[in-house]
Amino acid sequence: MTALWPRIEPLLDRVEKPARYIGMERGAQVPIHRPDAVSWLLVYPDTYEVGLPNQGLQILYEILNERHDAAAERGYAPWTDLEALMRSRSVPFFSLDTHKPAGEFDVIAFGLAAELVYTNVLNCLDLSGVPVRAEARRDEDPIVVAGGHATFNPEPMADFIDAFVIGDGEEVVGDMTEVIGAWKRSGRVGGREAVLHDLSLIMGVYVPSMYEVEYDGMAIREVRPRYPDVPSTVDKRTIADLGEWPYPKNQLVPLIEVVHDRLNVEIFRGCTRGCRFCQAGMITRPVRERPLEQARTMVAEGLKRTGYDEVALTSLSSADFSGIGELVSGIIDGQEEACGNVGVSLPSLRVDAFTVGIASEIQRIRRTGLTFAPEAGSWRLRQVINKLITEEDLYAAVDGAFSQGWRRMKLYFLIGLPTEMDDDTLGIAELAKNVVEIGKRYTKAASCTASVGGFVPKPHTPFQWFGQNSSEELQRKVGMLRDATRKGGVKLSWHDPKATMVEGINSRGDRRIGKVIERVWRSGGVFQEWSEHFKVDRWIEAMAAEGLDIDWYTTRHRTGEEIQPWDHITAGLHKDFLWQDWQSALAEHGLPDCRWTPCYDCGVCTDYAIEHVVASPFAPAGGSQGTGQDLSIGGAVPVRFLSKPGVGVAR
Ligand code: SF4
Repeated sequence: MTALWPRIEPLLDRVEKPARYIGMERGAQVPIHRPDAVSWLLVYPDTYEVGLPNQGLQILYEILNERHDAAAERGYAPWTDLEALMRSRSVPFFSLDTHKPAGEFDVIAFGLAAELVYTNVLNCLDLSGVPVRAEARRDEDPIVVAGGHATFNPEPMADFIDAFVIGDGEEVVGDMTEVIGAWKRSGRVGGREAVLHDLSLIMGVYVPSMYEVEYDGMAIREVRPRYPDVPSTVDKRTIADLGEWPYPKNQLVPLIEVVHDRLNVEIFRGCTRGCRFCQAGMITRPVRERPLEQARTMVAEGLKRTGYDEVALTSLSSADFSGIGELVSGIIDGQEEACGNVGVSLPSLRVDAFTVGIASEIQRIRRTGLTFAPEAGSWRLRQVINKLITEEDLYAAVDGAFSQGWRRMKLYFLIGLPTEMDDDTLGIAELAKNVVEIGKRYTKAASCTASVGGFVPKPHTPFQWFGQNSSEELQRKVGMLRDATRKGGVKLSWHDPKATMVEGINSRGDRRIGKVIERVWRSGGVFQEWSEHFKVDRWIEAMAAEGLDIDWYTTRHRTGEEIQPWDHITAGLHKDFLWQDWQSALAEHGLPDCRWTPCYDCGVCTDYAIEHVVASPFAPAGGSQGTGQDLSIGGAVPVRFLSKPGVGVAR
């Protein structure tokens, strides 16, 4: 141990979960920092347990450490108990691998998976001794970078981040290392402005200080680059061939229990299912599959190296992988060395052909809960959101699962979707009750949890123009569902509508929201994803203090002409395509997956010479996509923590 460890160690017997701060996990690296190399601190701005499994961070950690001109370490936000001790003893934020002070790195890079972590970014910077506002930083301060899905609307964090990475990070971090390394070796000639200018010329990098925003009242009139060579629109970066990036090769094995505590192997990136609420699906297009043989090797070697007995084959819709049957059978039957007696999780998996195929394979090893995500309570509304699941599909899948020995079902829904009426909302209770009834045919222990989240319209989706439901309206709908599920054996859990409102402010906010984020942080608002720390009053007061209207940012419908704060960032999707899809949604028309239909010219394939991925062997016969569903095994869908804001559980 080096650097700060002698000052950190004495604090650890006074905090909850001291193993969060030790490092030295299997897969951890102890890089040598050389003055001529660029040092990166990759930070997940939430706890160790939430951040450690993050695949994006682990991939970049390995890629950077393989370079001769870079060294990378990891950092996670200290929980409030350790933070208080650190502040009282002037111990700065530190890296996990060598306990080096964060402020000594050349780059501090944050992964922004969701908006409610924004205040933690400011807190980590402040704990590092780095000015939270980008304009106050000196040449010798680290370059502050952010990547992840939330950066597709970077504007709320524009005051604090020097450079955003938009899209896949695998190649960009190398390009950035070269620019920053050259600047550092030159003696930082031209100052911070020079290196930020050069970074802004890299495809997929957005440097907010290189742009001026002009307002017309509350509306945005123009976003203008400050230099003629800075692009007026920043294109996302996309790696065309996932097979060239078989990472992580050495997945980290945590010292304490973490979320997604298993081997994770990404089998493809992107999704063309076209669910209109789903930002991840839209911004990660086009679909790029990992070669089957490479996926098999990564599973076999990963299991051997980590000692895990469970592997998740991750993607946005795992049954759509063209080799899914072969891959799962190989793992379950132990065809690969180190496999056999291994549990398989398939996040976000459609249930059509799967229920009688792969589900029966998987339950031979492990019987846990199943999670389905119908998202809306009625067929009408599922057409609006383009989640084309019929009730018959769902009930057949549930029946198949119960008949195979599964006992617990979980259904995910969104409330507050465009055109939603009370009948649609109440349909959630009906679906859940019917699932319990089906289960009772097989076992008295059958149960169903309906988990309900408030819908937040996201940038770069067809719903980006929609005015979200107010928190009062969402609360009314939750109340209606509580009444409707008092009988029938259904458990109801829900996301706090007030947290949904705050997500909405940050999701579609503009640069003016930065001051709100700073006020909330200065008033003590950290870990806003955690119910014990979230206080909506901080946000309401900060918005009022900045003279900003919450409804203007959240419940207001946008027009097609309005310049959105993220319009100068492109995920490759034509705005016309998104607008047309929004109109189709309002007309209740579904849009089948483009892998089985002619191209809709959404725009994303054009630049990458990427061919359509062939339909999976588990696609419905004839290639119809009218029955697409999501299914997860063992709760493998994106985690929504019961300890997060205001999630209540009825009965
Ligand atoms: S460009 Fe065409 S084929 Fe490619 S993702 Fe868009 S709709 Fe599908």
